[in-house]
Amino acid sequence: MKKIIVAVDGPSSSGKSTIAKAIAKAVGYNYIDTGAMYRAVALYALRNGLDSQDLLPHLDQINIAFTRVEDGSQHTLLNGEDVEKQIRTLEVGNMASQVSPIKEVRAFLVAQQQAMGKEKGIVMDGRDIGTVVFPQAELKLFITASPEVRAMRRYKELIGKGEKPVFEDVVADINDRDYRDTHRAESPLRQAEDAILYDNSGMELEDQMKDYLRFFNDRLH
Ligand code: C5P
Repeated sequence: MKKIIVAVDGPSSSGKSTIAKAIAKAVGYNYIDTGAMYRAVALYALRNGLDSQDLLPHLDQINIAFTRVEDGSQHTLLNGEDVEKQIRTLEVGNMASQVSPIKEVRAFLVAQQQAMGKEKGIVMDGRDIGTVVFPQAELKLFITASPEVRAMRRYKELIGKGEKPVFEDVVADINDRDYRDTHRAESPLRQAEDAILYDNSGMELEDQMKDYLRFFNDRLH
């Protein structure tokens, strides 16, 4: 059967990872979380006390991979160590959006992402998948939701992970991150011209999935 590439882009906490994962599961494709790759680079920088520019000579010492664990979920490996939990903190998220504007960091990760999609049959989520990584992707989704909805999602997610966030800080963090991601010179977050814009504020995943799977099936023919 024909295999396609599904590119899922959108701002922080738009739900794109949950959506991309659910689509991948429903259609039997591999799921690649590119945000996790920027987060892993950020964790490496933080652990080694490197600021954004000092990081460049160390890029070739960073190996990022994904592994499937017992419960069926996918974890991120940094130089062989499972860092799935460590990369999901606010601190690492902030550092990720500081290292992600660097051209060399992007080139380093984009090359790996393109290699992962060579055989197609993948769902990849990020900020630049439909515009830079796979401009030829057959299905491009640009997922968004209002800033309030996204901040509340992130807030609940952090609480679920045992953190004690202050809601106002989460809102400020989402706004800062949106600003940085959309205003950077290198591959800013923007909707590809041929992407489907989907605002999922107030929508359940189950209802959204009907639309996403319909878009997917349309692209197979
Ligand atoms: O999606 P997630 O919040 O995990 O991404 C963390 C950071 O990585 C984002 O704020 C963004 O700066 C960066 N990123 C990126 N390009 C991608 C994926 C993530 O610049 N394709």
